[in-house]
Amino acid sequence: MLAGDGIGPEIMTEARKVLEVVNASQNLGLELDEALVGGAAIDAFGTALPDDTFAKCADAEAILLGAVGGPKWDTLPPADRPEKAGLLEIRKRLDLFGNLRPAILYPQLAGASSLKPELVAGLDILIVRELTGGIYFGQPRGIRELENGEREGYNTYVYNESQIRRIAKVAFELAQKRGGRLCSVDKANVLEVTMLWREVVQDMAKDYPDVELSHMYVDNAAMQLVRAPKQFDVVVTGNMFGDILSDAAAMLTGSIGMLPSASLDVNGRGMYEPCHGSAPDIAGQGIANPLATILSVAMMLRYSCAEPQAAQLIEDAVSRVLDQGLRTADIYSEGCRKVSTSE
Ligand code: ATP
Ligand code: MG
Repeated sequence: MLAGDGIGPEIMTEARKVLEVVNASQNLGLELDEALVGGAAIDAFGTALPDDTFAKCADAEAILLGAVGGPKWDTLPPADRPEKAGLLEIRKRLDLFGNLRPAILYPQLAGASSLKPELVAGLDILIVRELTGGIYFGQPRGIRELENGEREGYNTYVYNESQIRRIAKVAFELAQKRGGRLCSVDKANVLEVTMLWREVVQDMAKDYPDVELSHMYVDNAAMQLVRAPKQFDVVVTGNMFGDILSDAAAMLTGSIGMLPSASLDVNGRGMYEPCHGSAPDIAGQGIANPLATILSVAMMLRYSCAEPQAAQLIEDAVSRVLDQGLRTADIYSEGCRKVSTSE
């Protein structure tokens, strides 16, 4: 458990209570441990990812993270900041290439969406984003000076077949367990790297006869996501397209405080964290919504601990809390009862 910075410790305290209850009542036998990461670790040890913290992560079946970063550390060189030197470093060193970002709209919160309730009621999308490759990591990259004195920025968008296969495998298997539909998003009409992507994903489809595979260009996918989002079940895409589409999908649900995420390695070991950041603007006030982190615990139990029933118990409990009209400020609406993080 890495609480991190900002609201991280507040939401983690609540998530830990939930995890401890389920751990005891369901005899899960999970051993919990804590370590510092991000700005908190910089303050204590001068580095965002102390060796001891990484050793604990590498040893663990799963990692639960609150959030890292904040204005206090924004003056550091980018490479030393909590996000890059803490979070991205764990992802990279543990090869957590498979990013799962569900966008679920709880019926109790249908009014919070940016879309009409009838378009989003019952929305349940899972975006599977490749997280350790693509244009964010491709070489060469940089800003260079041209002969005419003008500068030019350049990045390289690259995926090899094994990178495509391993993320597509994650997505096909999740589609099998969910609604049986997978949409692969690319830009195969323009970019060679995604022509290969489409070819590889298409080729894998024969191994998953029970999954209905479709392909969509990313521009169309963006449009469909805000036009008729319920047509999607599982979406698989590369790093950059996934970054953009998962944020768009998150907004359809209307509350960043409700959305969990997972980042998995090839064996299913993973890091689980809320989609939101450290929210420095509300840190220390006891008003942050802990549900994204609590739902991240549920994802952790499902995907890394093979305890789907325990996960379901937590998800049902979250639903019941919403049924009772209990709302933190971010999801509050008239007629509900406003509660604090710990309530
Ligand atoms: P990023 O971390 O992606 O760079 P950011 O720091 O702007 O972006 P957040 O930290 O997620 O993003 O905060 C965005 C807004 O959402 C803030 O106004 C913050 O207070 C609010 N917010 C984020 N998480 C929560 C939460 N769990 N409960 C209530 N409000 C939240
Ligand atoms: Mg942030």
